[in-house]
Amino acid sequence: MSESGHYRPEAGMDVPRFAGIPTFMRLPHRRLAEAQGVDIGIVGVPWDGGTTNRPGARHGPRQLRDASTMIRLVNQATGVRPFELVRCADLGDAPVNPANLQDSLARIEDFHRRLVEAGITPLTVGGDHLITLPILRALARRHRPLALVQFDAHTDFYDAYFGGERYTHGTPFRRAVEEGLIDPGKVVQIGIRGTAYDGEDVRWARAQGARVIMIEEYYDRGPAWAMEEVRRIVGDHPCYVSFDVDALDPSQAPGTGTPEIGGIFTHDAQRMIRRLAGLRLVGADVVELSPPFDPSGMTAWVAANLLFELLCVLALARGGGPARRDAGV
Ligand code: MN
Ligand code: MN
Repeated sequence: MSESGHYRPEAGMDVPRFAGIPTFMRLPHRRLAEAQGVDIGIVGVPWDGGTTNRPGARHGPRQLRDASTMIRLVNQATGVRPFELVRCADLGDAPVNPANLQDSLARIEDFHRRLVEAGITPLTVGGDHLITLPILRALARRHRPLALVQFDAHTDFYDAYFGGERYTHGTPFRRAVEEGLIDPGKVVQIGIRGTAYDGEDVRWARAQGARVIMIEEYYDRGPAWAMEEVRRIVGDHPCYVSFDVDALDPSQAPGTGTPEIGGIFTHDAQRMIRRLAGLRLVGADVVELSPPFDPSGMTAWVAANLLFELLCVLALARGGGPARRDAGV
C-alpha cells in the first residue's frame, strides 16, 4: 500500500512478474465484503453460457489475470498513473452457474449491484458478451438509461436465436434497449463487419437511433473521427464502455469465438480508448477473450493492455484528474 492509502501493484523490480499468485495487474485481491474504500474493482466473470458457436470465454478471466501481470504503473502515452489517482483492487470472480443461464445472469447482476451500492466502479473481464446485460441491469439502478460505447465486430442487437432464445451473446443490447437500461440514441458501435444473418440487427438498431459505424466507414474516416462521433453523441451522459475483442483484427487477436477479418488494429484501439477521457464513464468491460483459441497467448496480451487503457480512463473519470483528451493520442 502506498502512503496515500492506495493499493499498489506488486512491483516487477521486486518480485519477478512470473512469480506469485496472479491477480489482475498484480493488485491485491479483496473480497467484496472487505472492499471498503476501493474506487475501481476489477472483476472476472468466468461464464460463456450465452455463446452460440465456439465456447471458451469462461476461461478468459484466469488467462487475463496471468497476462496482466506484465502491466506496469504508468501509461507512457498519456502520463496517466491510475493506481495513484484511485484505489484499485482485484475483487475476484462473480459467482456463476455453468448449468443455468438465468441463474448466472441473476448472480452476475447481484454481484455488480453490491459493487455499485458500495460506490465501486466495475471494470469487468468476461466471459461472453451476454455478461454485459446483467452488469447494465446493476448499473441502471443508479444511472438510467446509460449511454453505451461498444467496440465489436457484431451489433449483438439480434432478437432471438434457435427459434426463440432471447438470451445469447448475440442479443444483450436488444434486451438492454427493451428494458430501458441504455438509451439507443446514445449508443455508438464501432467495427461492425462480416457476413450477417439477414441485417435485421443493424436495421433495428438504426431505427431505434443507435449509431452503427461499419468498419468501412471507420476505415474511410479514421479512429479520431470515430471518437469525435462518440463525444458528440454521448456528451456528458453517464456512459458504459464494452470492448468485445473480436472488434480487433484476428491477425492481432485470434483468440475469440467469432473472429471476423478486416478489423481494428491494436494501436488504433488504444488511441480510441484514450479519447474516452473526459466522458462520464461509470463502468467498462473486456469480453469474448477465448483462451482455447489463443494458443500463443497473443490475444490475452492484447486484452490485458486494453484493460489497462480502460482502467486509465475510468481512473480519470473517477479520480477527478484532468481530462487529458489530447495527451499523447
Ligand atoms: Mn459482442
Ligand atoms: Mn463480437
